[in-house]
Amino acid sequence: MLSLPFMAQIEPTSRCNLKCRMCVHAEPQAGHDLSYDDFRTIIDRIPTLLHLKLQGNGEPLLHNQFCDMAAYAHKQGIFTASCTNATLLTEEYAGKIVESGLNELGISIEYADSEKYEYIRCGSRFSTFTENVSRIIRARDAIRPDMIIVLYVTILQQTDADLKNIVSFAVSHTINTVYVQNLQQHLSFTEHYSEDVKGINNPSGFNATVKRFQEIGRQQGITVWSAKECNWPHSRIFITSKGIVTPCCVLYDPTEYTLGNILHDNLQDIWNNHRYNIFRPSQSAELCDGCNWYHENASS
Ligand code: SF4
Ligand code: SF4
Repeated sequence: MLSLPFMAQIEPTSRCNLKCRMCVHAEPQAGHDLSYDDFRTIIDRIPTLLHLKLQGNGEPLLHNQFCDMAAYAHKQGIFTASCTNATLLTEEYAGKIVESGLNELGISIEYADSEKYEYIRCGSRFSTFTENVSRIIRARDAIRPDMIIVLYVTILQQTDADLKNIVSFAVSHTINTVYVQNLQQHLSFTEHYSEDVKGINNPSGFNATVKRFQEIGRQQGITVWSAKECNWPHSRIFITSKGIVTPCCVLYDPTEYTLGNILHDNLQDIWNNHRYNIFRPSQSAELCDGCNWYHENASS
Protein backbone atom coordinates (compact mmCIF):
# COMPACT_ATOMS: atom_id res chain seq x y z
CA MET A 1 0.00 0.00 0.00
CA LEU A 2 1.23 3.51 -0.82
CA SER A 3 1.66 6.06 1.97
CA LEU A 4 -0.80 8.30 0.07
CA PRO A 5 -2.72 7.75 -3.19
CA PHE A 6 -1.08 8.59 -6.52
CA MET A 7 -4.34 8.55 -8.43
CA ALA A 8 -7.60 10.33 -7.70
CA GLN A 9 -10.94 10.37 -9.40
CA ILE A 10 -12.69 13.61 -8.61
CA GLU A 11 -16.30 14.24 -9.55
CA PRO A 12 -16.79 17.75 -11.02
CA THR A 13 -20.54 17.21 -11.12
CA SER A 14 -23.05 14.45 -10.46
CA ARG A 15 -25.47 15.97 -12.98
CA CYS A 16 -25.98 14.51 -16.43
CA ASN A 17 -27.86 15.69 -19.51
CA LEU A 18 -28.65 12.12 -20.66
CA LYS A 19 -30.60 9.24 -19.15
CA CYS A 20 -28.70 6.26 -20.53
CA ARG A 21 -30.44 2.97 -19.83
CA MET A 22 -27.25 1.37 -18.42
CA CYS A 23 -26.52 4.10 -15.90
CA VAL A 24 -27.60 5.33 -12.49
CA HIS A 25 -29.13 8.27 -14.41
CA ALA A 26 -31.69 5.92 -15.94
CA GLU A 27 -33.52 6.98 -12.77
CA PRO A 28 -33.73 10.61 -11.58
CA GLN A 29 -30.72 11.58 -9.43
CA ALA A 30 -30.06 14.64 -7.29
CA GLY A 31 -27.21 16.60 -8.90
CA HIS A 32 -24.41 18.61 -7.32
CA ASP A 33 -21.42 20.59 -8.66
CA LEU A 34 -18.02 20.78 -6.99
CA SER A 35 -16.94 24.42 -6.73
CA TYR A 36 -13.69 25.41 -8.44
CA ASP A 37 -12.26 26.63 -5.12
CA ASP A 38 -13.03 23.29 -3.47
CA PHE A 39 -11.47 21.50 -6.44
CA ARG A 40 -8.23 23.43 -5.98
CA THR A 41 -8.28 22.72 -2.25
CA ILE A 42 -8.63 19.01 -2.96
CA ILE A 43 -5.77 18.98 -5.47
CA ASP A 44 -3.55 20.89 -3.05
CA ARG A 45 -4.33 18.35 -0.31
CA ILE A 46 -3.03 15.38 -2.32
CA PRO A 47 0.70 16.14 -2.67
CA THR A 48 1.42 12.68 -4.12
CA LEU A 49 -1.07 13.02 -6.97
CA LEU A 50 0.27 11.97 -10.37
CA HIS A 51 -2.89 10.97 -12.20
CA LEU A 52 -6.29 12.64 -12.02
CA LYS A 53 -9.53 11.50 -13.58
CA LEU A 54 -11.99 14.37 -13.67
CA GLN A 55 -15.16 12.35 -13.66
CA GLY A 56 -17.76 10.82 -11.40
CA ASN A 57 -21.39 9.92 -11.81
CA GLY A 58 -22.25 12.72 -14.19
CA GLU A 59 -21.24 14.45 -17.39
CA PRO A 60 -18.09 16.44 -16.50
CA LEU A 61 -18.43 18.90 -19.38
CA LEU A 62 -21.63 20.23 -17.78
CA HIS A 63 -19.45 21.93 -15.18
CA ASN A 64 -18.88 25.50 -16.32
CA GLN A 65 -15.30 25.44 -14.98
CA PHE A 66 -14.30 22.04 -16.30
CA CYS A 67 -11.48 23.54 -18.39
CA ASP A 68 -10.22 25.60 -15.44
CA MET A 69 -10.06 22.43 -13.35
CA ALA A 70 -8.18 20.54 -16.07
CA ALA A 71 -5.77 23.45 -16.55
CA TYR A 72 -5.11 23.78 -12.81
CA ALA A 73 -4.25 20.09 -12.44
CA HIS A 74 -2.23 20.03 -15.65
CA LYS A 75 -0.14 22.99 -14.45
CA GLN A 76 0.80 21.01 -11.33
CA GLY A 77 2.28 18.33 -13.61
CA ILE A 78 -0.57 15.90 -12.97
CA PHE A 79 -1.63 13.65 -15.86
CA THR A 80 -5.24 14.72 -16.27
CA ALA A 81 -7.95 12.67 -17.94
CA SER A 82 -11.71 12.71 -18.25
CA CYS A 83 -14.51 10.96 -20.08
CA THR A 84 -17.49 12.52 -21.82
CA ASN A 85 -20.67 11.57 -23.64
CA ALA A 86 -19.55 14.10 -26.32
CA THR A 87 -22.96 15.80 -26.51
CA LEU A 88 -21.65 19.24 -25.48
CA LEU A 89 -18.62 19.46 -27.76
CA THR A 90 -19.25 22.66 -29.69
CA GLU A 91 -16.40 24.07 -31.78
CA GLU A 92 -15.57 26.55 -29.02
CA TYR A 93 -15.77 24.05 -26.15
CA ALA A 94 -13.68 21.46 -28.02
CA GLY A 95 -10.95 24.06 -28.58
CA LYS A 96 -10.98 25.14 -24.93
CA ILE A 97 -10.69 21.56 -23.72
CA VAL A 98 -7.64 20.90 -25.87
CA GLU A 99 -6.09 24.22 -24.82
CA SER A 100 -6.67 23.43 -21.13
CA GLY A 101 -3.86 20.85 -21.26
CA LEU A 102 -6.13 17.88 -20.54
CA ASN A 103 -3.94 14.90 -21.37
CA GLU A 104 -6.58 12.36 -22.23
CA LEU A 105 -10.25 12.49 -23.14
CA GLY A 106 -12.39 9.37 -23.18
CA ILE A 107 -15.52 9.29 -25.30
CA SER A 108 -18.15 6.81 -24.23
CA ILE A 109 -20.11 4.62 -26.60
CA GLU A 110 -21.77 1.19 -26.65
CA TYR A 111 -22.81 0.97 -30.31
CA ALA A 112 -21.69 2.60 -33.53
CA ASP A 113 -25.13 1.98 -34.98
CA SER A 114 -27.47 4.98 -34.79
CA GLU A 115 -30.62 3.06 -33.86
CA LYS A 116 -28.98 1.03 -31.10
CA TYR A 117 -26.97 4.05 -29.89
CA GLU A 118 -30.03 6.28 -29.58
CA TYR A 119 -32.02 3.55 -27.86
CA ILE A 120 -29.45 3.06 -25.10
CA ARG A 121 -28.23 6.70 -24.84
CA CYS A 122 -31.56 8.36 -24.14
CA GLY A 123 -31.37 12.03 -25.06
CA SER A 124 -28.46 11.86 -27.51
CA ARG A 125 -28.48 11.79 -31.32
CA PHE A 126 -25.91 9.63 -33.09
CA SER A 127 -25.42 12.21 -35.85
CA THR A 128 -24.62 14.92 -33.28
CA PHE A 129 -22.33 12.53 -31.44
CA THR A 130 -20.28 11.73 -34.55
CA GLU A 131 -20.11 15.40 -35.53
CA ASN A 132 -18.87 16.32 -32.05
CA VAL A 133 -16.27 13.55 -32.03
CA SER A 134 -14.96 14.90 -35.33
CA ARG A 135 -14.77 18.38 -33.75
CA ILE A 136 -12.61 17.33 -30.81
CA ILE A 137 -10.35 15.35 -33.16
CA ARG A 138 -9.93 18.38 -35.42
CA ALA A 139 -9.13 20.56 -32.39
CA ARG A 140 -6.63 17.97 -31.13
CA ASP A 141 -4.91 17.79 -34.52
CA ALA A 142 -4.77 21.57 -34.86
CA ILE A 143 -3.74 22.54 -31.34
CA ARG A 144 -2.20 19.63 -29.41
CA PRO A 145 -1.70 16.45 -31.44
CA ASP A 146 -0.24 14.72 -28.36
CA MET A 147 -3.61 14.79 -26.56
CA ILE A 148 -4.92 11.23 -26.29
CA ILE A 149 -8.49 10.44 -27.35
CA VAL A 150 -9.81 7.09 -26.16
CA LEU A 151 -13.05 5.41 -27.13
CA TYR A 152 -14.58 3.98 -23.93
CA VAL A 153 -16.79 1.04 -24.82
CA THR A 154 -19.12 -0.58 -22.31
CA ILE A 155 -19.95 -4.08 -23.45
CA LEU A 156 -23.61 -5.01 -23.33
CA GLN A 157 -25.03 -8.37 -24.37
CA GLN A 158 -25.87 -7.01 -27.82
CA THR A 159 -22.51 -5.25 -28.40
CA ASP A 160 -20.88 -8.33 -29.95
CA ALA A 161 -22.63 -7.80 -33.28
CA ASP A 162 -21.31 -4.25 -33.43
CA LEU A 163 -17.61 -4.75 -32.64
CA LYS A 164 -16.47 -4.20 -36.24
CA ASN A 165 -18.53 -1.00 -36.53
CA ILE A 166 -17.04 0.34 -33.30
CA VAL A 167 -13.46 -0.36 -34.38
CA SER A 168 -14.14 1.17 -37.81
CA PHE A 169 -15.62 4.24 -36.09
CA ALA A 170 -12.48 4.60 -33.95
CA VAL A 171 -10.10 4.14 -36.89
CA SER A 172 -11.99 6.48 -39.23
CA HIS A 173 -12.01 9.20 -36.54
CA THR A 174 -8.27 8.70 -35.79
CA ILE A 175 -9.02 7.90 -32.18
CA ASN A 176 -5.87 6.70 -30.40
CA THR A 177 -7.07 3.59 -28.56
CA VAL A 178 -10.21 1.68 -27.58
CA TYR A 179 -10.81 0.81 -23.93
CA VAL A 180 -13.30 -1.94 -23.21
CA GLN A 181 -15.15 -2.55 -19.97
CA ASN A 182 -17.98 -4.84 -19.00
CA LEU A 183 -21.29 -3.40 -17.86
CA GLN A 184 -20.87 -2.91 -14.12
CA GLN A 185 -22.70 -5.68 -12.24
CA HIS A 186 -22.48 -4.22 -8.74
CA LEU A 187 -25.85 -3.58 -7.11
CA SER A 188 -24.98 0.11 -6.65
CA PHE A 189 -25.39 0.41 -10.44
CA THR A 190 -27.67 -2.45 -11.47
CA GLU A 191 -30.49 -1.29 -9.20
CA HIS A 192 -30.83 1.79 -11.43
CA TYR A 193 -30.58 0.15 -14.88
CA SER A 194 -33.53 -0.20 -17.22
CA GLU A 195 -34.90 -3.73 -17.06
CA ASP A 196 -33.93 -4.62 -20.64
CA VAL A 197 -30.24 -3.75 -20.16
CA LYS A 198 -28.01 -6.77 -19.75
CA GLY A 199 -24.23 -7.15 -19.63
CA ILE A 200 -22.14 -10.29 -19.92
CA ASN A 201 -22.47 -11.79 -16.48
CA ASN A 202 -19.44 -14.04 -16.46
CA PRO A 203 -15.75 -13.13 -16.73
CA SER A 204 -14.97 -15.82 -19.32
CA GLY A 205 -17.73 -14.55 -21.64
CA PHE A 206 -16.47 -11.00 -21.26
CA ASN A 207 -12.85 -12.04 -21.82
CA ALA A 208 -13.87 -13.88 -25.01
CA THR A 209 -15.58 -10.72 -26.28
CA VAL A 210 -12.48 -8.66 -25.47
CA LYS A 211 -10.33 -11.14 -27.41
CA ARG A 212 -12.62 -10.89 -30.46
CA PHE A 213 -12.55 -7.13 -30.12
CA GLN A 214 -8.74 -7.11 -29.89
CA GLU A 215 -8.41 -9.28 -32.98
CA ILE A 216 -10.64 -6.90 -34.97
CA GLY A 217 -8.59 -4.00 -33.63
CA ARG A 218 -5.34 -5.72 -34.63
CA GLN A 219 -6.67 -6.22 -38.18
CA GLN A 220 -7.52 -2.52 -38.42
CA GLY A 221 -4.36 -1.27 -36.68
CA ILE A 222 -5.74 0.06 -33.40
CA THR A 223 -5.09 -1.12 -29.84
CA VAL A 224 -8.08 -2.46 -27.93
CA TRP A 225 -7.42 -2.98 -24.23
CA SER A 226 -9.14 -3.71 -20.95
CA ALA A 227 -8.05 -3.34 -17.31
CA LYS A 228 -7.81 -6.55 -15.32
CA GLU A 229 -7.21 -5.60 -11.74
CA CYS A 230 -8.61 -3.41 -9.00
CA ASN A 231 -5.93 -1.25 -7.35
CA TRP A 232 -8.30 1.18 -5.74
CA PRO A 233 -7.85 0.50 -2.02
CA HIS A 234 -4.06 0.64 -2.14
CA SER A 235 -3.26 3.50 -4.49
CA ARG A 236 -6.40 5.36 -5.61
CA ILE A 237 -9.06 7.53 -4.09
CA PHE A 238 -12.57 8.50 -5.20
CA ILE A 239 -13.88 11.92 -4.21
CA THR A 240 -17.47 13.01 -4.79
CA SER A 241 -18.58 16.50 -5.79
CA LYS A 242 -19.12 17.17 -2.06
CA GLY A 243 -15.56 16.19 -1.15
CA ILE A 244 -16.59 12.87 0.36
CA VAL A 245 -14.05 10.08 0.03
CA THR A 246 -15.37 6.64 -0.85
CA PRO A 247 -13.34 3.50 -1.66
CA CYS A 248 -13.76 3.62 -5.45
CA CYS A 249 -15.97 4.70 -8.35
CA VAL A 250 -18.19 1.65 -7.87
CA LEU A 251 -18.76 2.23 -4.16
CA TYR A 252 -19.50 5.86 -4.95
CA ASP A 253 -22.53 6.37 -2.73
CA PRO A 254 -21.57 8.15 0.52
CA THR A 255 -24.81 7.03 2.14
CA GLU A 256 -23.51 3.46 1.77
CA TYR A 257 -19.85 3.90 2.69
CA THR A 258 -17.87 7.01 3.61
CA LEU A 259 -14.22 7.21 4.55
CA GLY A 260 -14.10 10.93 5.32
CA ASN A 261 -14.39 14.33 3.70
CA ILE A 262 -11.19 15.71 2.19
CA LEU A 263 -12.52 19.28 2.49
CA HIS A 264 -12.70 18.89 6.28
CA ASP A 265 -10.31 16.08 7.21
CA ASN A 266 -6.60 15.57 6.71
CA LEU A 267 -5.86 13.16 3.83
CA GLN A 268 -3.29 11.23 5.87
CA ASP A 269 -5.92 10.67 8.56
CA ILE A 270 -8.49 9.51 5.98
CA TRP A 271 -6.06 7.21 4.16
CA ASN A 272 -4.99 5.54 7.40
CA ASN A 273 -8.26 5.57 9.27
CA HIS A 274 -9.89 2.51 10.79
CA ARG A 275 -12.62 2.19 8.16
CA TYR A 276 -10.10 2.22 5.30
CA ASN A 277 -7.93 -0.32 7.06
CA ILE A 278 -10.89 -2.59 7.63
CA PHE A 279 -12.00 -2.19 4.03
CA ARG A 280 -8.63 -3.02 2.44
CA PRO A 281 -8.27 -6.66 3.42
CA SER A 282 -12.02 -7.30 3.11
CA GLN A 283 -12.12 -5.78 -0.36
CA SER A 284 -13.47 -8.98 -1.84
CA ALA A 285 -16.13 -9.49 0.79
CA GLU A 286 -19.53 -7.92 1.30
CA LEU A 287 -18.84 -4.45 -0.13
CA CYS A 288 -17.27 -5.56 -3.41
CA ASP A 289 -19.49 -8.54 -4.08
CA GLY A 290 -20.94 -8.27 -7.58
CA CYS A 291 -18.36 -5.77 -8.86
CA ASN A 292 -16.75 -6.66 -12.20
CA TRP A 293 -13.29 -6.14 -10.75
CA TYR A 294 -14.01 -8.43 -7.85
CA HIS A 295 -14.93 -11.24 -10.23
CA GLU A 296 -11.91 -10.48 -12.42
CA ASN A 297 -9.65 -10.80 -9.40
CA ALA A 298 -11.34 -13.94 -8.17
CA SER A 299 -11.04 -15.64 -11.55
CA SER A 300 -7.40 -14.77 -12.26
S1 SF4 B 1 -23.69 6.83 -18.95
FE1 SF4 B 1 -22.69 8.82 -18.80
S2 SF4 B 1 -23.77 10.07 -20.30
FE2 SF4 B 1 -25.07 8.34 -19.91
S3 SF4 B 1 -26.48 9.02 -18.28
FE3 SF4 B 1 -24.72 8.02 -17.31
S4 SF4 B 1 -23.30 9.65 -16.78
FE4 SF4 B 1 -24.76 10.42 -18.31
S1 SF4 C 1 -13.35 -4.64 -6.38
FE1 SF4 C 1 -14.20 -3.38 -4.70
S2 SF4 C 1 -12.77 -1.68 -4.46
FE2 SF4 C 1 -12.39 -2.60 -6.45
S3 SF4 C 1 -13.62 -1.41 -7.89
FE3 SF4 C 1 -14.83 -3.17 -7.24
S4 SF4 C 1 -16.07 -2.48 -5.53
FE4 SF4 C 1 -14.39 -1.01 -5.82
